[in-house]
Amino acid sequence: MTWTAIAGAASAASDALLDLVFPRHCYACGASLAATHERFLCAPCNSRIRFLGDRYCRRCGLGQGPYVPSETGCLNCSTLELSFSRALGVASYEEVLRDLIHQFKFQGRVQLSVFLGELLVERVRAERFAEGLDVIVASPLHRRRERERGYNQAALLAERVAQAFLLPLARRGLRKVRETPSQTTLARTARFENLRGAFGVPRPSEVEGRRVLLVDDVLTTGATASEAARTLRAAGATEVRVAVVGR
Ligand SMILES: [Zn+2]
Ligand SMILES: [Zn+2]
Repeated sequence: MTWTAIAGAASAASDALLDLVFPRHCYACGASLAATHERFLCAPCNSRIRFLGDRYCRRCGLGQGPYVPSETGCLNCSTLELSFSRALGVASYEEVLRDLIHQFKFQGRVQLSVFLGELLVERVRAERFAEGLDVIVASPLHRRRERERGYNQAALLAERVAQAFLLPLARRGLRKVRETPSQTTLARTARFENLRGAFGVPRPSEVEGRRVLLVDDVLTTGATASEAARTLRAAGATEVRVAVVGR
């Protein structure tokens, strides 16, 4: 059993136990869910998540006004060289969703992988986004970062997607071989430069000749996903699509 599977099972078990002892609470605001059918979020918090629906760029996944399909992408991405073919996000990375993803990544709330993973699976299913794909790869953390955190949040999400669509998860599909300085203070073009050569594919046979679904928690500029996709394609992947929760 992998650590992520153990963590998932342990958090599911502790959630079940907590439900017996304490009523359920909204992950975002803490309101009691005891008198509702809601499992994760209260209705007001849920209504503050801006789901992307049908109005998003098929190339970079960004939400827009009335979407006009275009081969070259949208205003955001048409000038960017992206190594993935398509990107799909669940909802805008802001407000309640941003807070939940922060809790999931930085505050050790591993159990959020259930809620966020379900959102991602539903979205991928609704958009038929996994059709024709062969293998799932999680966006990796550097080994040191993963050791500090105790888990890789993208891998927890990727496991749920792999299970839901009966696709293999390439556990060593991609590795972060170089620690990169924080991206947040860098301008967009510098972000792409900063990541060059940051990933490696330890076992090319896991992706060679395959169409890959790369799973991550968020996609902001697209720099990380694009460099990951470039690396996978250099190792022989024939296509890389990206699925994320926050876009
Ligand atoms: Zn709430
Ligand atoms: Zn776009």
